[in-house]
Amino acid sequence: MTRVPLRKALADLPPYVPGARAPIGAAAYKLSSNENPYPPLPAVVAALADAAMDVNRYPDMYATELTAAIAGSLGVGAESVVTGNGSVAVLAHVLAAVCEPGDEVVLPWRSFEAYPIAVTLAGAVGVPVPLAAGGRLDLEALAAAVTPRTRVVLVCTPNNPTGPAVHADELATFLDAVPSDVLVVLDEAYVEFVRDPQAADGLAAFAAHPNVVVLRTFSKAYGLAGLRVGYAVARPRLAAGIRAASTPFGVSSLAQHAAIVSLRSVGELMARVDAIVVERDRMLGGLRAQGWDVPDSQANFVWLPLGDQASSFAAAAGRAGVLVRPFAGDGVRVSVGEPEATDLLLEFASTARH
Ligand SMILES: *Cc1c(COP(=O)(O)O)cnc(C)c1O
Repeated sequence: MTRVPLRKALADLPPYVPGARAPIGAAAYKLSSNENPYPPLPAVVAALADAAMDVNRYPDMYATELTAAIAGSLGVGAESVVTGNGSVAVLAHVLAAVCEPGDEVVLPWRSFEAYPIAVTLAGAVGVPVPLAAGGRLDLEALAAAVTPRTRVVLVCTPNNPTGPAVHADELATFLDAVPSDVLVVLDEAYVEFVRDPQAADGLAAFAAHPNVVVLRTFSKAYGLAGLRVGYAVARPRLAAGIRAASTPFGVSSLAQHAAIVSLRSVGELMARVDAIVVERDRMLGGLRAQGWDVPDSQANFVWLPLGDQASSFAAAAGRAGVLVRPFAGDGVRVSVGEPEATDLLLEFASTARH
C-alpha cells in the first residue's frame, strides 16, 4: 500500500519547543515563555464575558473596530494595519504574500525560533546570519547577505532570546543598503519594554521606507498571549496582499474585544510594563554582580550565554522552583515575572555560580 507523502521540508523542520510548564500541583515560577505575569484587567475579563455570548457567530472578519483602534493608537491609516492570530501567524501571512518557492529570507541567528519554521513552510529558503558580539544583530552582515534571490530580511528588535535592541543609526544605514524591492520585517514583539534611548523607531522606519513592515503583538506587554492577537503595519498595497494571504476569521471575537479594551486601558497596562522593566533591570544587575556574562536586555527576558551548560542550568533551576528556557548548547533565556521570581532566580544563580 502506498502512503500519502508529506512535504519533504517537514522532515528538516526544527521543532518549536514551548517553554516548560510546572507539573500539576507543583509550585514553580514560569519564566520560560516571556509571558506577562499579571492576570487580565477586570475590564478585559468583562469584555471576554460579554463576547462569550456571541461565539455562535463568526467574528468580524476584518476586525474593523480593532484595526481602527490600533491604527488610531499608532497614528497610521487603518488600511495599513492587518491583524492576525498572533504575530507568528501574521509573519506566516507576510511570507505567504511575498515569497515565491525558493526565494531567500535572510534572518539573524540565534533569534526567534519560529522564524526558520515559518520560512520553510512558506516554501522559501532561510539564510541565517550569525549575531555579533553581545547578542546583538549584525545589521551589516544581514545587509551583506542580501542577493538577487532575497525577498525578505527579518529583523528582530529587541532580539529574542538575546535581548538587545537595534539602534537607530544601524537601522538607517541598513535600510539605505537594502534594495527597495526587498521586504524588511521589523519584529517589535517587545517594543513596549525598550528603554534604550538609541533604539530604532520601527514606525519611523515604516514611514520613511515603503519596503518596511512592522510586526507587533498583544501577547507580551498587553498580557493577552492566550488570546492570540497580533498585527502588521504595512503600506496599503502590501497590507492588502497580507490580508489576502490571511486565514479568514483568524482573530476570534473574544480576542478582538479584549484587545480593544486593552488599548483603552493602555495607561494601566504600561504601568505594569514599567514594573516589569524595573524587575528586568534588577535581574540583569543582580546576575552581573554575581559575575554572570549577561547581554543588555530591552525586553522582558534576559539571556545567559552558557554554551554546553545551558540544559543542566535550566534543569537545576527548575528543581529550585524557576522554570527557564534552555537552548541546548547555546544559552538560557529567563523571562521576567513576579518580584518573588526574580528573588528566587537570583538566589539560585548565586548558588549555581559557586
Ligand atoms: C512572542 C514573540 C512574537 C509574538 O508571538 P504571538 O504569536 O503574537 O504570540 C513575535 N515575535 C517574537 C520575536 C516573539 O518573541
